[in-house]
Amino acid sequence: MGLPPDYHIHTPLCRHAEGAPVEYAAWAKRRGLEEIGFSDHAPMPRDDFDDWRMKASELSRYAALVEEARRAHPEMTIRLGLEVDYLPGMEDWIRELSGRYEWDYLIGSVHYVGDWDIDNPVKASRWESEDTLHVWVQYAERLTEAAASGLFDILGHLDLCKKFGYRPEGKIAELFRPLLQLAAEKGLAVELNTAGLRKECREMYPSAEILAMAADYGVGLTFGSDAHAPRETAWEFESAVSAAKAAGYDSSLQFIRRRRVRRPL
Ligand SMILES: [Zn+2]
Ligand SMILES: [Zn+2]
Repeated sequence: MGLPPDYHIHTPLCRHAEGAPVEYAAWAKRRGLEEIGFSDHAPMPRDDFDDWRMKASELSRYAALVEEARRAHPEMTIRLGLEVDYLPGMEDWIRELSGRYEWDYLIGSVHYVGDWDIDNPVKASRWESEDTLHVWVQYAERLTEAAASGLFDILGHLDLCKKFGYRPEGKIAELFRPLLQLAAEKGLAVELNTAGLRKECREMYPSAEILAMAADYGVGLTFGSDAHAPRETAWEFESAVSAAKAAGYDSSLQFIRRRRVRRPL
């Protein structure tokens, strides 16, 4: 089989990515992909929540940009998704968003622990003054709540908390066991996200150990580059496929209007 679909691609609407969807699609074609999906940062009810996501009024523009890429690249399957921040209390908003378009999938991601977006480079120095283990525990718990919410199809970058290289001592993969058990029960997929290879942690999200655990529980898998520039599309996907196979996966998932279809690796 060729490379799996890249389901985690951003657009300039999130204010920290470059390149139009049509350019990401062109790069994906060059890389030999037959399918991609956009999953830009979903808006919040208040546009001043932070400065790294599209505004609520831009959702239609987002859908139009993806449509434009579809028209320019009829040979490629292009899915429409969103990367949605899970925050307790936001459930009604997420439900509302999910009804606005015919999404192919929603990726549920955790970036916030309390009021701190832990992966924000501008706030990376805060890791110095925090108890690393405590942040990781809170992060994994929040992600478990996201899985329990039933609002998502895919869980994004499971161990994003390692981004800047702050890792607690001990068996940290175990922090993610309850989450993976729940994902298996709920039929929720996880993604193998190659963006970590471009960050200080120098590792995909999740780690090989967590990925093997996910495979053991029978949790479905998607692939994502988390591209914020066209040339990052399908970033290191050959290595990602090898890592997935080494973890025990022989298939990944495609999503069509929130329905999952198995695809051999
Ligand atoms: Zn993310
Ligand atoms: Zn992302």
